[in-house]
Amino acid sequence: MTLPARDTRVLYPAGVLDTWSRVLHTATAGDGRLAVITDATSFHPVDAAWPDQPADTGALHVRDERYAVHDAVLAATDGESLYLGADIPVRKGADGWSFLVAHLVDPDAPVAEGDEVRIEADAANRHALSAGHTACHLASLALNRVLADRWTKPAREDALGSPDFDGLAIASSRIVADGSVDRYRLNKSLRRAGFDSASLVAGLDGLELAVADQLDRWIATGAVVRVERDGELLTDRRSWVCELPDGTARIPCGGTHLTSLAELSSVRPTFTLVDDAGTPVLEMTIVASRMLPSAGLR
Ligand SMILES: [Zn+2]
Repeated sequence: MTLPARDTRVLYPAGVLDTWSRVLHTATAGDGRLAVITDATSFHPVDAAWPDQPADTGALHVRDERYAVHDAVLAATDGESLYLGADIPVRKGADGWSFLVAHLVDPDAPVAEGDEVRIEADAANRHALSAGHTACHLASLALNRVLADRWTKPAREDALGSPDFDGLAIASSRIVADGSVDRYRLNKSLRRAGFDSASLVAGLDGLELAVADQLDRWIATGAVVRVERDGELLTDRRSWVCELPDGTARIPCGGTHLTSLAELSSVRPTFTLVDDAGTPVLEMTIVASRMLPSAGLR
């Protein structure tokens, strides 16, 4: 079987949940799964190199039978071999490689190259992850703004012109249903760059209140949110865009999002300090609450 010579076309950035597509390749994967690669997909895969948003849940429909998709992972091929997830030996977008979405199903799913299949991502799970991802980006901007006066040297700026604490200190970011957990390393290089972490460690209560207050003010604007992209292929550049009154924020992002901050009723941050082998780590946990559908719209 030939391996695809082009990236998978991805439809989830536009909010698509359901699509028909042609199977280009199947391969046995670890854990007794079958990896199914299609020309296009509505299924968001997890990227092992930066696993912030987890894979969608859902199913592949093959000739009127439904097969659960157990996982969806980023895959890559150089035309010779197929690599899945953490086994991909090159960076995303490397020349001469195609980057793909592999849907992992049970090995007895009767699916073969050339089949037309229906790919269906679960709507409720997607919406909860989109709310978590939008809240995560908004919270990173709020955190940067609140921490702006703790920098003693000029630092790289974020999408709204604040010193980019989030971009400089982030160690990991995990999107969950209606929330996120971001971890920031308060290490020596951050201090050398001019960030005063000592006073931060001394008082997290004030930080929590100030970030919550900034988030409240932004949510009250009901600002429009969208994903901008250069094209439909998996490695085409995409950005999260939020049209805040303070300016239009643009953050590179491969995930899925809400369409407006008006979909959120609140975004609550909690901060804790943990120790990672002697390096203090600031953990920001975000809980997003979504608006209930208005009674008037029933
Ligand atoms: Zn993102």
